[in-house]
Amino acid sequence: MIQQERLKNLLIELIKIDSLSRQERDVALRLKREMEDLGASVTIDDAGEKVGGNVGNVIAHFPGTVAGAEPLLLSAHMDTVVPGEGIVPILDGDILRTDGRTVLGGDDKSGIAIICEALRVIKENRIPCGPVDVVFTICEEAGLVGAKCLDVSQLRARMGLVLDSDSVGFLFTKAPASNRMEFRIHGLEAHAGICPENGISAIRIAAEAIAQMHLGRIDDETTANVGVIEGGMAVNIVPNLVVLRGQARSHNQEKLDRQTRHMQRCLEEAATRHSVILDGKRHEARVEARINHDYDRMDVPESAPIVKLVHAAAKNLSLELTNEAYGGGCDANVFNQKGLVVANLGTGMREIHTLKEWVNVKDLYVSARMVLEIVKLNAVQRP
Ligand SMILES: [Zn+2]
Repeated sequence: MIQQERLKNLLIELIKIDSLSRQERDVALRLKREMEDLGASVTIDDAGEKVGGNVGNVIAHFPGTVAGAEPLLLSAHMDTVVPGEGIVPILDGDILRTDGRTVLGGDDKSGIAIICEALRVIKENRIPCGPVDVVFTICEEAGLVGAKCLDVSQLRARMGLVLDSDSVGFLFTKAPASNRMEFRIHGLEAHAGICPENGISAIRIAAEAIAQMHLGRIDDETTANVGVIEGGMAVNIVPNLVVLRGQARSHNQEKLDRQTRHMQRCLEEAATRHSVILDGKRHEARVEARINHDYDRMDVPESAPIVKLVHAAAKNLSLELTNEAYGGGCDANVFNQKGLVVANLGTGMREIHTLKEWVNVKDLYVSARMVLEIVKLNAVQRP
């Protein structure tokens, strides 16, 4: 009953509407119309004002026709990463890809198109269903800030799915927590040829600290990275400032805290090894640390009703489905943090965040059949 052609056409239409983070208005208004056409009452919240964007999250309430059925959340994000303006989707058989100049934006417009098509089939065929809350978020790619601004008391659903991952047949139930760090290492400026002993090299401190740091894959639950390093003015100046930006992620909160402290300590210890005395006054290197907790981990138990529901739907359709752990964060982390129970279902998006991004239309079709079956089953069977 899912119409592959219609699903593909909607995805292509959505991809052609530019929607970088904080600039999702055009696609939001298009989706508001779509949801209203499908019978929902739609609001747009004030998240856009809070994050400096041009529109908020789109929240659509479908009343449902089955009394007593558990309300279900279906969510996907509207924003895409750069370069993502003027996307030209090219259809090559069943493969939808770009012309190589931009990303495709299948992340996450594939998820949006799948949700829309499943709900359209339900409306057309008057399929009994429970209440459905649809949330299309802004600014997922800018640190999940659209979802973070969402007031979940506006939702009836306490469980659901985010459609924002690659492989169809994977249900992501675990994802790491993440800390984002910025370290500013302050040394002391001096002429590098005339009086280098009067300076403290912030670059040297950074180098010593990073050489001591455990980075990369720390263990099977934890990763860490220094991704940006900036500093120095000229070859003849002892550099007085270096800025490092890094990140740590772990499925275990305690390990995340430990890794974050480790990275900070390496820098502080390196800084304490460097000081100079000028005119009787002692100058010490120092480190300013800004640590932001990006998002909590997600850990939906296998016994959760939403996980059971998705597995029952896969079984009805004779599809393989496995629960997986994801290395990244998504809106589902935030929904779980806010007390909902939400897993992340694959849509078929591939090689995301690259110019080679592509989607197989057949995968979209399978994912949409899954979503349709999940909504149907949720109305008839309490898992
Ligand atoms: Zn995404």
